[in-house]
Amino acid sequence: MKKIQMVDLRSQYLNIKTEIDKGIQEVIDACAFINGPAVQTFQKNLEQYLGVKHVIPCANGTDALQVAMMALNLKPGDEVITTSFTFIATAEVIALLKLTPVLVDVDPDTFNIDPRAIERAITPKTKAIVPVHLFGQTAPMEEIMEIAGKHNLHVIEDNCQAIGSDYIFKDQERKKAGTIGHIGCTSFFPSKNLGCYGDGGAIFTNDDELARQMRVVVNHGMTVRYYHDYVGVNSRLDSIQAAILNVKLGHLDEYAAKRRLAADFYDNAFANNPRLKTPCRFTRSTHVFHQYTLETRNVDRKALIEYLASKDIPAMIYYPVPLHMQKAYLDPRYKPGDFPVTEHLCETVFSLPMHTELDTEQLAHITQSVVEFLNQ
Ligand SMILES: *Cc1c(COP(=O)(O)O)cnc(C)c1O
Repeated sequence: MKKIQMVDLRSQYLNIKTEIDKGIQEVIDACAFINGPAVQTFQKNLEQYLGVKHVIPCANGTDALQVAMMALNLKPGDEVITTSFTFIATAEVIALLKLTPVLVDVDPDTFNIDPRAIERAITPKTKAIVPVHLFGQTAPMEEIMEIAGKHNLHVIEDNCQAIGSDYIFKDQERKKAGTIGHIGCTSFFPSKNLGCYGDGGAIFTNDDELARQMRVVVNHGMTVRYYHDYVGVNSRLDSIQAAILNVKLGHLDEYAAKRRLAADFYDNAFANNPRLKTPCRFTRSTHVFHQYTLETRNVDRKALIEYLASKDIPAMIYYPVPLHMQKAYLDPRYKPGDFPVTEHLCETVFSLPMHTELDTEQLAHITQSVVEFLNQ
């Protein structure tokens, strides 16, 4: 059996090697390393794929979030509402810009931000909401946009984990995750659903003025060459990474289908197991399974992960610590117990290998080993 990995980038590369190598070689032959044609082509292709007016490539997903907040001209002390169950980057940029992160709990089934909790957290200082489309499904954007509209707030979607996912509105209209709020952000970190071979990111918007502003921010706040009207940052997508992304974007839907097949295999194997709760499929979103995350019930999670490791099966905990209990983010406004759903998930969830190259033999070994541990 092929060695099981959380993400098997090498096997995926070998299947697209000819296209990838050609794309990289073209950039080197042209020596167009910064903002070369590959970047422009990728920008256009991604705009078309997402059905969004503007894609602004940048250096990584964390920068994408930071640039979005800078472009909205948020001021120190402005409150930004986000989820307590996410990767740290979301809260990190809020803190770096001296904005005030306001955390809210998540839905116990989808693990995504709970719109009712958002509404309760709004104050006169609230300026923006940052929903995270966690593990590959879109947060309830229709409700979130309604709340934002009512209170005149901006919505920045952290779409680092759900690129390619469709949000399905009540009238059945579909939009791509990341294109529903005022701004969407994504990461092309290698292990993301659309990953490059280094760092990369992008920002999406349908708003011409915000797009103009964000293009200025990513380029040192420069309006006319060497005239700087704003304090900006340097955040670019490298041309070689863009060439790789151009190839992988062509495979993105096929990759999502492969992830779904692996998820179906897991779902079937664990169906009706009283000690495991398989991922909920939110009716308003397609699932692109960035992660396959199970909730355990009365299971010694540490022992389970150790047992799997003894069978050469990796497993991870996303995420072990809620944001409000991270040392760097301890805040007198929050204490343990404030976000019971998040705290419960941090104690009980674990994620199994999920990528585009899992074969039936590997999936059978993984599921049999999990069941074996639970039955012992
Ligand atoms: C990966 C990720 C980020 C950060 O992306 P980088 O490209 O690593 O900076 C931000 N938010 C979420 C939810 C992520 O999963």
